[in-house]
Amino acid sequence: MDRKTVFAKKTNVKEVNYVGPSGVPLQNPQSYLPQNLVRKDLPLPHLGEADVVRHFLGLAQRNFSIDTHFYPLGSCTMKYNPKINEDMAKLDGFVGLHPYQAPHTVQGTLELLYELEQMLCEITGMQRFTFQPSSGAHGELAGMLMIRKYHQAHKRNKTKVIVPDSAHGTNPATASMCGYQTVVVESTLEGLVDVDKLKSLVDDETAAIMLTNPNTLGLFEEDILKISDMIHKKGGFLYYDGANFNALLGITKPALMGFDVVHLNLHKTFSTPHGCGGPGAGAVGVTDALVDYLPVPLLKKESGELFFDYCLPHSIGKVRAFYGNFAVLVRAYTYLLRLGSQGLRRVAHNSVLNANYVKEKLKDYYEVPFPKRCMHEVIFSCKKQKERGASAYDIAKRLIDYGIHPPTMYFPLTVPEAFMVEPTETESRCALDYFIEAMRQIDREISQDLDKVKSAPHTSFVKRVDETKAARSPDLRWRENGV
Ligand SMILES: *Cc1c(COP(=O)(O)O)cnc(C)c1O
Repeated sequence: MDRKTVFAKKTNVKEVNYVGPSGVPLQNPQSYLPQNLVRKDLPLPHLGEADVVRHFLGLAQRNFSIDTHFYPLGSCTMKYNPKINEDMAKLDGFVGLHPYQAPHTVQGTLELLYELEQMLCEITGMQRFTFQPSSGAHGELAGMLMIRKYHQAHKRNKTKVIVPDSAHGTNPATASMCGYQTVVVESTLEGLVDVDKLKSLVDDETAAIMLTNPNTLGLFEEDILKISDMIHKKGGFLYYDGANFNALLGITKPALMGFDVVHLNLHKTFSTPHGCGGPGAGAVGVTDALVDYLPVPLLKKESGELFFDYCLPHSIGKVRAFYGNFAVLVRAYTYLLRLGSQGLRRVAHNSVLNANYVKEKLKDYYEVPFPKRCMHEVIFSCKKQKERGASAYDIAKRLIDYGIHPPTMYFPLTVPEAFMVEPTETESRCALDYFIEAMRQIDREISQDLDKVKSAPHTSFVKRVDETKAARSPDLRWRENGV
């Protein structure tokens, strides 16, 4: 690929074709901008449409994306995003909305929110949902603030929140943000919450336990009813981290397992393109006990008219401006309607089947620390490969040469050289077989040509970067040599 940018090519087209009238009235910027902010010179190349298209398409192709590559990032659910979701999200009636519009002019939009809430209640067994939180972590914060407010209102002295040692980092972070002490409960060798150890940790000061089920090791917590009994007896709540809810869609509901609060990452399980902080929606649902504490406003229907009700005296208040990332909600709604209840169950079956297929085909090559049947994701440990000289990091980099996005690595923290693979239900058997063969091939390369693995990737635009520096002080300027 020609990797030069348009700046380097010094293209200069005098006549630019195919450009319509701008629609923005021309004004002299000098008349309303401070002089020191007005550019004297704007060194943009003059380009024809074709050059502009190639410029942006060229940049886009330097990305890994679910539309171009297999993307098995565990605990992130990078599933295919149906294009019909985008068509619906950009309907004129939605795109032109303004959040201050009078409710009677947006009844259709409110109806969509109303129905989406009902569908999510059906799926989870919760009583009501809020769509305000913009991400999973944000949803956790809203959920735990409700729990805290409940305990305060009932004059209960609660100081701690229990999380398993395999938990997603946002769980203990949320507990701390809400002023609770985080207490870690260890997992058994099988990868499940150690119920005996939990028993010794739960007491009257336990505000809640935060769990994800299937847990972050990809396993179903079989003792969930015992756990829920134990916590409820001490007046604590069960918080369900439902960021990745694929495995259980249409099979069971968090409410049946005893959970009181649930967040769902609509951008993961219900298919919205996400990553790099893109818009998300961490919908939060609660059972009866916590409905009064939901963020304002809540949707209400009276004699057929929908409106937002701000009169919620016990509410934790607002957690975001307006009502949430609406376009993500449209996508989730479209996704749900397209699949229907049978389709959702197929999502669960196929996501579990695909993960177990990958596990069975690779278990003789890469160690599987938890041999139980997994749910929608599978964890490998690259311990054996590390002993032969290549770490999980090296293997991940080599996968890039095979056109595969590296899986989640070194997480959960309890697994050495962890490789967390979530194939999702949207991948074909052919795509899975390609991934399996690439993983086996890399295992062979470690024996035959270790340097090739250690110096990978060989084909990507950017090779190995100092990841801390790249995250903390990114320098995105283009350079002549393309580095
Ligand atoms: C992704 C994820 C989160 C956080 O969700 P964000 O939208 O990234 O804030 C929390 N818990 C689990 C298990 C996750 O996979």
